[in-house]
Amino acid sequence: MKTSPGKRETNASVSMQQYGIRRIDLSSAQLASSEMARDINRDIVLEFIRFRQPVSRVDLSRLSGLQPSTISAIVEDLIDEGWIKEGAIVRGGRGRPSTMLSVNEDLVTLALDIRPNQAIVAVVDLSGRFLSHETIPTATAPDAAVAKLVRKMNVLRSQHKEKTFEGIGVSVPGRVDPITHRLLMAPNLKWDGFDIKSALEKEMDLQVEIDNDANACLLSELWFGRLEGVRNAVLIAVSEGLGTAILAGGQLHSGFNGLAGEFGHIPIDPRGPLCGCGQRGCWEMFASSRAALKTYRKISGNLQVKDVQSLLKLAQDKDPAALKAIKAQATALGRGLRLVTAALSPERILITGEITSCWDTVSPIVQAELQAGMLAGSAPQLTTAGDGYLARLSGSAALLMQRHSRYHRSTHVSRTTKRERRSKA
Ligand SMILES: [Zn+2]
Repeated sequence: MKTSPGKRETNASVSMQQYGIRRIDLSSAQLASSEMARDINRDIVLEFIRFRQPVSRVDLSRLSGLQPSTISAIVEDLIDEGWIKEGAIVRGGRGRPSTMLSVNEDLVTLALDIRPNQAIVAVVDLSGRFLSHETIPTATAPDAAVAKLVRKMNVLRSQHKEKTFEGIGVSVPGRVDPITHRLLMAPNLKWDGFDIKSALEKEMDLQVEIDNDANACLLSELWFGRLEGVRNAVLIAVSEGLGTAILAGGQLHSGFNGLAGEFGHIPIDPRGPLCGCGQRGCWEMFASSRAALKTYRKISGNLQVKDVQSLLKLAQDKDPAALKAIKAQATALGRGLRLVTAALSPERILITGEITSCWDTVSPIVQAELQAGMLAGSAPQLTTAGDGYLARLSGSAALLMQRHSRYHRSTHVSRTTKRERRSKA
């Protein structure tokens, strides 16, 4: 999830070259306090525990490059705050016996994946395990939908009374304003302008973190360590439209107004079909599932095939028209990736969505177009990413845990009180 601190400390010149030059903006510069450094180290140690558990303090010191005394202090904090627990005592061949550390399984989050027709609510622990999940229909009006969601979440909470709920992570099929947290653009949900975060926080008395579904999928990849060592990646969610999530310099990037990465709405053919955004020939008019379905109907004259799943099934069964439509979609997808590589130069491009069920057909075409579109050098690595509601839910949980641990910890009342209590003692 984060870079190895040892690497960062010892290879400063390499990292400068690799990750760009850091410019200090004096109008918004914030001096690094010792507390900030401690918080960063603390998050790194927590990540090592999550990925290597059960792990001893000695191992953590070796893995992180931090002094044993620093590790001891951080571990004490993490235990005190309830993130981790001490477990078995292991006696090695030499030296003192070590107490093994693991993440606290009693610490959980509510994860919420809101779709146009349904929402899934789940209880997820710090290791990404699902303790339970339930589906409910999404009512049209946002207020009614939130009321329903709250009822369901309260039921789940009461079923897991022994657990500590950290908050709620929410993924939505649209863009979220990074400042107001209101939905900016959710064409299929029609909740534009609605503030889900405040509504849920008020009703549930838990901290809420919200982001779009493509970001949740990318975060899920990070959360499970599948992007270890990757600092620049782009995830393209191919569905009715094209959604994008950007990892730039190791951080999720949403830009000034939360709309960074709307590559799907960059016109690639001024004479192309009219897009829902008002422009002609947007990339998604050629590379989305909807585009493939349209192509298939045009080629075959068959209007009975109503959804992309049926189309992909036909392609898997080697139906010539379906294969042609999917190949046209793959070509458009690969060509449009030039926008992505020219803009962001990622080292990896991840594709999610139904189209990955025909990956054997799709991948060589996208790969060839991707390489042909490079301005220089070799193309980024092309892979598929975990998709579907499980990826979005675990990403939602990760969204909460990550932002919570790093940025919002001091605002968490019970923790602050605990910490204050301890420092006063
Ligand atoms: Zn458009």
